[in-house]
Amino acid sequence: TPLSKIQRTPSSTPGATRDREEKMLVTVRVRPLNRREQALYDLIAWDFINDRTIVPRNPNNERTSTSYTFDKVFSPACTSHEVYSEGAKHVSLSALTGINATIFAYGQTGSGKTYTMRGITENVIRDIFDYIKSTSDRDFVLKLSALEIYNETVVDLLNRDSGPLRLWDDPEKGTIVEKLNEEVIGDSQHLRHLIGICEAQRQVGETALNDKSSRSHQIIRLTIESTVRENLGRVKSFIASLNLVDLAGSERASQTNVVGTRLVEGSHINRSLLTLTTVIRKLSAGKRNSHIPYRDSKLTRILQSSLGGNARTAIICTMSPALSHVEQTRNTLLFATSAKEVTNTARVNMV
Ligand code: ADP
Repeated sequence: TPLSKIQRTPSSTPGATRDREEKMLVTVRVRPLNRREQALYDLIAWDFINDRTIVPRNPNNERTSTSYTFDKVFSPACTSHEVYSEGAKHVSLSALTGINATIFAYGQTGSGKTYTMRGITENVIRDIFDYIKSTSDRDFVLKLSALEIYNETVVDLLNRDSGPLRLWDDPEKGTIVEKLNEEVIGDSQHLRHLIGICEAQRQVGETALNDKSSRSHQIIRLTIESTVRENLGRVKSFIASLNLVDLAGSERASQTNVVGTRLVEGSHINRSLLTLTTVIRKLSAGKRNSHIPYRDSKLTRILQSSLGGNARTAIICTMSPALSHVEQTRNTLLFATSAKEVTNTARVNMV
């Protein structure tokens, strides 16, 4: 199982600090038709060829359309636990052994990003604390920080009163969010409580700006430090962060479905999301020396190492099965197709 693979990594793998190149894990989750779609007699627009491939449903039964293949396609019948097990577990538990990990949910508003990230977070918390309890040769310190990016402004979700936070570039650590609160975690209940606070904070201002959550990005970051006591009293320490990222609605990365003036289009587009899609597209083209515009947005600066760098990354793309959303869904699947080609180089980080 992935867990046993992970358990071996730091203490018994010689040369565990070597870099490992690997593609991002890219999966797609299709939610059920919702009540509104059912009431409007919306149609299902996609067929599942197998558990990795979907294809646009063709009313004439001709197999002419392009199919889309990923590491896994989760049908509406899949549970949150299955999505976690095959779309996030292996990547997220790497953080227990000093390998940075990031899980993104990407998709249009209403496609199930928040629903999916909640399920992942629940499962991650359970597995992390189970692992810590069952690991006797190491001591762990867990810390939580959480932020929101809204209109290119970074806000601390654990301390909203601190106002907008600035980013600065550390030559060794990369982009740092200045004055971001970090809470030391006591136990799983404490962690759940703090994540609950972050969720409530994210909703602040939601009624005044009724589509705020579709415009904002949330990053929950768990930093896990562990110390191994080896023979002869030697001590080794590992550190990694696990980012759980709920992105703004993917419709904000494209002009699709926007009617009206240039001005309206301008406010519709989300710079961080647009930059994320550009970064992924450029990385997927594989030209190592080409300019990757990480610095064009807050999101891509903060998550730079997760995008083609020192991290393991999983992207779960969420989609509606409905015909009425087919255009946005295609955009999501094109993003996912690019993401499949991105290679990261994760390493075990020693303190
Ligand atoms: P997003 O974060 O992408 O805007 P949400 O996660 O808020 O979307 O999901 C929109 C609605 O659909 C919510 O009411 C959510 O509970 C429901 N939903 C999303 N995904 C699923 C799923 N896989 N199964 C059942 N309900 C879902």
